[in-house]
Amino acid sequence: MSVRDRVEEIYEQVLLRNAGEPEFHQAAAEVFESLHVVLERHPRYADSGLIERLCEPERQIIFRVPWTDDNGNVHVNRGFRVQYNSVLGPYKGGLRFHPSVNLGIVKFLGFEQIFKNALTGLPIGGGKGGSDFDPKGRSEAEIMRFCQSFMTELQRHIGEYTDVPAGDIGVGGREIGYLFGQYKRLTNSFESGVLTGKGLNWGGSMVRTEATGYGVAYFTAEMMAAKGESLEGKKVVVSGSGNVAIYAIEKVHQLGGTVVACSDSAGYVVDPKGIDLELLKEIKEVKRARISEYADQVPHATYVEGGSIWDVECEIALPCATQNELDEVAAKKLVACGVQAVAEGANMPTTAQGIKVFRDAGVAFAPGKAANAGGVATSALEMQQNASRDSWSFEYTDERLSKIMRGIHERCITTAAEYGQPGDYVHGANIAGFVKVADAMFAMGVI
Ligand code: GLU
Repeated sequence: MSVRDRVEEIYEQVLLRNAGEPEFHQAAAEVFESLHVVLERHPRYADSGLIERLCEPERQIIFRVPWTDDNGNVHVNRGFRVQYNSVLGPYKGGLRFHPSVNLGIVKFLGFEQIFKNALTGLPIGGGKGGSDFDPKGRSEAEIMRFCQSFMTELQRHIGEYTDVPAGDIGVGGREIGYLFGQYKRLTNSFESGVLTGKGLNWGGSMVRTEATGYGVAYFTAEMMAAKGESLEGKKVVVSGSGNVAIYAIEKVHQLGGTVVACSDSAGYVVDPKGIDLELLKEIKEVKRARISEYADQVPHATYVEGGSIWDVECEIALPCATQNELDEVAAKKLVACGVQAVAEGANMPTTAQGIKVFRDAGVAFAPGKAANAGGVATSALEMQQNASRDSWSFEYTDERLSKIMRGIHERCITTAAEYGQPGDYVHGANIAGFVKVADAMFAMGVI
């Protein structure tokens, strides 16, 4: 059987075994597409069920999360933790609280996390978790009770050497605080390395809050440099307005670009003079309000209800909202207006057809597992600080982050060239991540 047929056969099995999980199928397909070329060169990677084992999570935990709202009504949510692969280190990956969360979504995120974490060069395995809980409109007290109930079950399954969760959509510093407090209470130990994204005065790391967004901007600067270009004077569109988007905007501005638009789930705002970050932070982080408020306060800005932020012309596009937010139609519009580079701040924000449009047009396209790896990398730096009971300065940690992002960019470029796909970040990231994980799996035998 040819390598291509063998890969197809395994992919078919993955589809059958994980029916009804389209996002997981999409994430797997993206990696499988890069495997042919690796297996043709190194057929041993198809031995000992390695790919089948890689696709099957080591453990999947699903649990009930009951909690009581402020009016005394009981709600029941579903909690997840998928412990995907631990050959490189303890499972590592965020928790997402969003009504769209289901097992397929958590598996797609966990699967991507394996390769992303491998690419950082740091000793972390891959995992992901979350709940279909919707934090929107919930009071502080409700958020706290939910987090406490969630951790009451999750604490049985995590630990600094086992599984180290962090934030993702809907889980930021506030939630990590409540989760850590409940873990500490239940286990009667201050095990700081069990969660990352903690507050600065109780074990958190400098730069962790900024890391994903900063990392996306550093990676984009490397992509531009590889084309003999820079961010200086470039018009940039960043979708989303959460943690990743906010700090991507901050760093793009520091590196000389101008972010002219950002969005939330209700619409997008265009500010031709460049997004006023202090105002955006005030609206999103302090008031936890809608982005439409931005246009209420800035006369020269416009708010577009609904619609697509990708209608806004730009030279660089950074999708930082959520999965599948940038489809084929949007990609074609971006190509038509001359976009030069696209780097994913969110996880899998571009559809498979969208990616094809960029690749066919020769647009530099960086997948999330490379471009947004700065967040989890800085989580691993937080773990290092916790293990040594140390805390590093902002400058030192930021320097480590930017070096890691340069390293990931370099690894993508050299691997893509080595496997005959020069300049293709998707193949570069998939292959470099896969080879590292696969070699470790071989070393440890069939487990
Ligand atoms: N949720 C982030 C990601 O998608 C960060 C995970 C972490 O820091 O563990 O990579």
